[in-house]
Amino acid sequence: MTPAIDIQQLGKRYGALAALDHIDLVIQPGEFFALLGPNGAGKTTLISILAGLTRPTHGSAKVMGYDVLSEYRAARKRLGVVPQELVYDPFFTVREMLVIQSGYFGIQGNDAWIDEILYRLDLADKAHTNLRALSGGMKRRVLIAQALVHKPPVIILDEPTAGVDVDLRQSLWQFIQHLNQEGHTVVLTTHYLEEAEALCNRVAMLKQGRIVALDSMRNLVRSIQDYTLELRLS
Ligand code: ATP
Repeated sequence: MTPAIDIQQLGKRYGALAALDHIDLVIQPGEFFALLGPNGAGKTTLISILAGLTRPTHGSAKVMGYDVLSEYRAARKRLGVVPQELVYDPFFTVREMLVIQSGYFGIQGNDAWIDEILYRLDLADKAHTNLRALSGGMKRRVLIAQALVHKPPVIILDEPTAGVDVDLRQSLWQFIQHLNQEGHTVVLTTHYLEEAEALCNRVAMLKQGRIVALDSMRNLVRSIQDYTLELRLS
C-alpha cells in the first residue's frame, strides 16, 4: 500500500540551527497520528515542508506517493492543511474564501460541497459573514473548512485546539474523529499528551528537530507511566 506520508532523512537548517534533523517517518492511509513536541521542536516546519511552503535542506517527503518538491501539484491536491492562523483578507466572507480556495485547486462549481462543509461545521448561517467578524471558535472551524474544499485524503492540523475552551475543544475533537472514521488519514500536532491520547493511535515525539519516540499511543503512555513510577520509587 502507498503510504499516506513517507518522509526519508528529511532535514531543514536555518544557519546553524537544525529545525529538522534526519527525520524518517511513514504514516499509513487511515491512521490517526500525532506529532507531539514542545515549542520549537520542528512540528510546524515539518507541516510547512509537506505543504510545499518550505524547501527542505536534504531528504525527501511524499504525500500519497507524490514528491512534495518534484510533484508539488499532485502532492498538494492530496493534502488538506489546517494552519494555526487564517491568512485570508478579513473582508472576504466565509463562502468567498472557500470559493477562492477551491479555485486555487482548479475546482469550479464547488457550491454543493461547500454548502455541505459549512453545514457539517455548523457554519451555514455564517456563509455571508466577513471573516473579520467571526469569533475565535468560528475562525477555527473556518480553518478546517478551507482545508476540506478539495476533498483531500490526508489532513494535517497544526495545533487545532491551542487556546480554545473546553466545549470547543470537545466539538473539534469530535469533528476530527469523524473525518478519520470517514477514511481520511489525520495527522495533528499538539503540545498536549492528553489530546494525542484521546484521539490518536500512533505518535511521534519530536524534540529539537529529532524524533525521540515513535510508538503506539498505548505503549507510549505505558512507558511514561513506568518512567514516572521509577522516578517516584528511586
Ligand atoms: P511551536 O509549538 O512553538 O509552534 P514547532 O514545534 O512548530 O513550535 P517550528 O516552528 O517548526 O517548531 O520551529 C523549529 C525551530 O526552527 C525553532 O527553533 C524555530 O525558531 C526555528 N525556525 C522556524 N522557522 C524559522 C525561520 N524562518 N528562520 C529561522 N528559524 C526558524
